[in-house]
Amino acid sequence: MHANEFPPAGFDPLQKAEMAAKATCRGDHRKYYRFRPAKFYGGIATADCLGCCLRCKFCWSWPKVVSPGRFGRFYAPGQVSAKLTHIALAQGFHHIRISGNEPTIGRVHLIKVLELLPQNLLFILETNGILLGHDPSYAEDLARFANLYVRVSLKGCNEAEFYALSGAASDGFQLQVQALENLVRAGVKTHPAVMISFSTPDTIAGLRKRLRAIDPGFEDIEVEELVLYGDVEERLAKANLSVNYSHPPVYPV
Ligand code: SF4
Repeated sequence: MHANEFPPAGFDPLQKAEMAAKATCRGDHRKYYRFRPAKFYGGIATADCLGCCLRCKFCWSWPKVVSPGRFGRFYAPGQVSAKLTHIALAQGFHHIRISGNEPTIGRVHLIKVLELLPQNLLFILETNGILLGHDPSYAEDLARFANLYVRVSLKGCNEAEFYALSGAASDGFQLQVQALENLVRAGVKTHPAVMISFSTPDTIAGLRKRLRAIDPGFEDIEVEELVLYGDVEERLAKANLSVNYSHPPVYPV
């Protein structure tokens, strides 16, 4: 079955975000399971958080997404900022990020981490955009940080693909697209990355057109690689999702 053949259904990602926040946020503290140097962006200090509002079939962090309560511990914004800065300085990195699950869950925590980070380190916010699309004031809050870049990771090229890949109701895709629009309006530097391994040339062209209407530069999408970590292949087979082999998956090294 192809991603575009799925009927409309799925969970509410905003409700899932609330559930994830209950499990992984306490006041301005947030749950993390790891702090590490990573090779992406030419070297980036990374804090891996817990809690997400989607359930992507290709997610490399699956056990942490579905059972965040089983992993990690709570950290204050100051602890996260200090650990990231320490890793960046020790490794000579200029980039930092929160990764692992969805960084925008726990808005108070994220904003405080950003306030505490040194301005000479660029924070790359890798997000699924659901919460930024839902509430324009979130993007406006982010606009005051000059050392912030937002990479919105779209799950497929349209509503049907989004549902098939993420398990969330198809109208969540518009929230992802809206996130880009809200960020542009607020003056935040951003670009779209897209998982297109399950898409067709037609749906890819349709997305380019949709994104071009927000910002002509968005037509030039970053293609997200499908990496077959752990049991990803099994999950994709179970969901009957077929890969478009012009954008083939890779195995982790
Ligand atoms: S949005 Fe990211 S962390 Fe959340 S399920 Fe999808 S791939 Fe995993």
